[in-house]
Amino acid sequence: MAIYEIVPLRAFSDNYIWTIRDGSHAAVVDPGDAQPVLDYLAREKLELVAILNTHHHADHVGGNAALLARTRVPVFGPHDERIPDVSVRLADGERCTLPHFHIEMEIMEIPGHTRSHISFHGDGMLFCGDTLFAAGCGRLFEGTPRQMHDSLTRLARLPDDTRVYCGHEYTLANIKFAKAAEPDNRKLPELEAQMQALRNKDQPTLPSTIGREKATNPFLRVSEPAIIHSASTRATKKLLDPVSVLAEIRDWKNNF
Ligand code: ZN
Ligand code: FE
Repeated sequence: MAIYEIVPLRAFSDNYIWTIRDGSHAAVVDPGDAQPVLDYLAREKLELVAILNTHHHADHVGGNAALLARTRVPVFGPHDERIPDVSVRLADGERCTLPHFHIEMEIMEIPGHTRSHISFHGDGMLFCGDTLFAAGCGRLFEGTPRQMHDSLTRLARLPDDTRVYCGHEYTLANIKFAKAAEPDNRKLPELEAQMQALRNKDQPTLPSTIGREKATNPFLRVSEPAIIHSASTRATKKLLDPVSVLAEIRDWKNNF
């Protein structure tokens, strides 16, 4: 495997286009806009070798066509005709290997935010698009609370030191909500201070890790008594299962 690094390229107001690069080549995850990628490739004199797409939303795939017009590269993505550019469609448990870098990625289907959302996991990294965010999760546009719960539960089973590369810089707003959902979690004020310090320096708060998410993300903590309690208080009835708790706090966050 080649030595590489992961660089975030900013797009729109708060998207990250995660770029796997070495001295000569690059692969990009979720290029919602081609221009930041083209600028970066030109400036760094890199050749694009692959595109990875986690889901069909325009802020994740909108740059595919313009990148492909310059260089024909494989596009790895889900079985969803709404992303016509995908050349290698991948299902749960399948693997793909990034050209040039020879990094093997395992695919997980993680519906919830959208029905065909996938993640790429390999070499200690997880690219999870808009399903798992630092201290939060994606909105349920096409999925049910049960699907999101199952998807997050599967992601939470990855090793604690897995680095989590999310699609958006939502961390500080998510931590504010997490503090409301779990006021006694002492890790949250500490995390908020660390993340605020990064944002003050205009640095990304990502990647997170699976271990950090398990300790601080309310959507991964729906079986914790404190979260069950605050969700039940909002619902004005005792919520008895993790899926109902997730549904309640997702609705709460939507209106937070
Ligand atoms: Zn999305
Ligand atoms: Fe997005």
